[in-house]
Amino acid sequence: MKKVLVLEDESSIRSFIVINLRRAGYDVIEAESGEEALEKLQENPDTRVALLDIMLPGIDGFEVCRRIRATNLRIGIIMLTARSQEMDKVTGLMTGADDYVTKPFSPAELTARVDALIRRSGVTDDTTDRITQLPFVLNTRNRTLEKDGQRIKLTQMEYAIMKMFMENPGKALSREEILDLVWGRDYFGELKIVDVNIRRLRLKIEDNATNPTYITTVWGYGYKWEA
Ligand code: CA
Repeated sequence: MKKVLVLEDESSIRSFIVINLRRAGYDVIEAESGEEALEKLQENPDTRVALLDIMLPGIDGFEVCRRIRATNLRIGIIMLTARSQEMDKVTGLMTGADDYVTKPFSPAELTARVDALIRRSGVTDDTTDRITQLPFVLNTRNRTLEKDGQRIKLTQMEYAIMKMFMENPGKALSREEILDLVWGRDYFGELKIVDVNIRRLRLKIEDNATNPTYITTVWGYGYKWEA
């Protein structure tokens, strides 16, 4: 069964999430604090997705996200944010989260997000072994990226975006298209998720992220991979 961790200190919200994920067929682990979440993830290395609340009594959700990402790039991370925390969404994504949901959310919305992440991380590509566009080599067998022979560590979502770009060299892609291609057509999220993930990816792959030359911006439209 697909294992999901839920970190939320408010018990009513936590049980709402847990009940709905169990109903959707997930094996759910619960944590009330960041410390407990990190411990449980160590005990359950096969966890596919972690849902992280931000405001917590001990270390906050951003710190939990940072600590998870320091050792685990494969797990999907979704931040649980409040409507008033617009900035937090961006901060959360920059610390390595893949997505966020805004409270209050519907059970359908939540499970759609979790499903999308699991689908994304579980896909093994077998059409080609690698895509080479120097200085980049994307190995689709073990889902890794090298630039000038140096391994660049990517989250599953960053890998998916990189693959999409390398499969569409020189083509201007709208933010809507990118959302469809990477997150899927049944995805409930906002376009902002595209921008923040691309900003994070640029920090990893560009020579100078403030003046990107590989992933360029097509103003008022989207992005383009400069082959
Ligand atoms: Ca909280």
